Amino acid sequence: MPYADWQALAYLLAGSLFVLGLRGFTHPVSARRGNYLAMAGMVIAIIATIGAPEVKAYGFIVTGIVIGGVIGTVIARRIAMTAMPQLVALLHSFVGLGAVLVALGTYLTHAHGGAPGAVLRAELGIGALIGAVTFTGSLVAFGKLQALLSTRPLLFPGRHLVNLALFVLALAATVHFVGGGSFATLVLLAVLAALLGVLLITPIGGADMPVIVSMLNSYSGWAAAATGFTLHNDLLIIVGALVGFSGAILSYIMCRAMNRSIVSVVLGGFGGGDAAAAAAAASGDRPVRVAAVEDAAFLMDNASKVFIVPGYGMAVAQAQHALNELREMLGEKGIEVKFAIHPVAGRMPGHMNVLLAEADVPYEQVVEMEEVNPEFSACDVALVVGANDVTNPAAKTNKASPLYGMPILEVYKARHVLFIKRSMKPGYSGVDNELFYRDNCALVFGDAKAVCEKLVAELRGRH
Ligand code: NDP
Repeated sequence: MPYADWQALAYLLAGSLFVLGLRGFTHPVSARRGNYLAMAGMVIAIIATIGAPEVKAYGFIVTGIVIGGVIGTVIARRIAMTAMPQLVALLHSFVGLGAVLVALGTYLTHAHGGAPGAVLRAELGIGALIGAVTFTGSLVAFGKLQALLSTRPLLFPGRHLVNLALFVLALAATVHFVGGGSFATLVLLAVLAALLGVLLITPIGGADMPVIVSMLNSYSGWAAAATGFTLHNDLLIIVGALVGFSGAILSYIMCRAMNRSIVSVVLGGFGGGDAAAAAAAASGDRPVRVAAVEDAAFLMDNASKVFIVPGYGMAVAQAQHALNELREMLGEKGIEVKFAIHPVAGRMPGHMNVLLAEADVPYEQVVEMEEVNPEFSACDVALVVGANDVTNPAAKTNKASPLYGMPILEVYKARHVLFIKRSMKPGYSGVDNELFYRDNCALVFGDAKAVCEKLVAELRGRH
């Protein structure tokens, strides 16, 4: 059998393993297996690709794999769970850059043996266009998530017109290139698309970043698929389409969860940064109730229903194990405990579910927002652990807030609300939380893990 047939079979196997891997990611129980299947698919794909007889430059390839492998291993070992979204955004930017470089390189290679045909030109143009938007857009997203750039929406007047003009120009350059334009046109369209990537993502505010990360994930898939067409690599087309579609579906799910239309997120900055700044400043010197750990333990000890609302702060503090102990302790006392999960809590989709699963919190006690919201009015204590934006009633009441329209966990309905956080600082969106000042709310200041451990010790002492 010729090598091409072996390769096609291997690609089919690898593609199937990627599909099964994705299927595994749909539930925390099967996610680990999904990862192993996808990794096996990737090993098969790499071996089948570099084993091809036309591959000659093994020196380059092995050097690249070794350097990339070492960097990847070091980063994977060191990266904190809370920094995953920015790492993912950075990796998306590499896919985008890869698509642009492959387009430029392929053009130069073909230019030696005569001008590339229209089909190849279309592949190169589209690859460079999507790749460049993905590259710079993902870099800006990385900057925002890493707090190198402001997470507030950065708006400038007439930005929609400027973006539209840039889009039209980039598209015109692509059409011109496909019709026979020179290498300079290809570079120009990539530069215009790169600028568009920056301008599209810069105005997007903190609260909308989850949708943007999944959208850029989708773009990176389409960029990879375009590269697959250029390189005549079927597997890259399959993988690109898988990533492209799954990213698009995730963006849709996130948009629905946040009650946003994808168009308003992409056009960016709805709600206004000034309002956010004003709201943040408004916190000023309004009085809040502060509870000691002992008071919090007393309230929980006398409750019959406690809902725990984890957020980004739980991830920062790695408080999930202490929270699981707290759950066990309350359970032993006959108190009903549920974990209420907001779809964008934390900094990546499924962030809270992953951490709670790691701490062995039973899945049946982890409840999604729609299911738990009607139950908050019957709950004695809502213990909010390092969550903020996902509980902020401004999302319901303040039209000027960047959070407006996002469904929230309705903790304010509970008899008592306890917020564990370290200071009065706002959450990711930069918006002050009006709940802090309500009569049924109290703040327990401190690191989430330390406070939860003290709560467990205090409750144990009350046995
Ligand atoms: P928030 O960012 O709104 O709030 C987190 C809170 O945790 C802060 O108020 C902070 O207060 C507190 N905190 C931080 N560290 C600690 C610690 N060690 N101990 C105790 N508290 C701590 O988080 P939410 O989960 O409520 O909301 C997520 C936000 O992130 C949303 O705006 C969402 O749109 C956005 N986002 C979500 C993504 C996703 O995919 N899930 C991706 C990107 C953004 P203090 O500093 O005072 O302690």
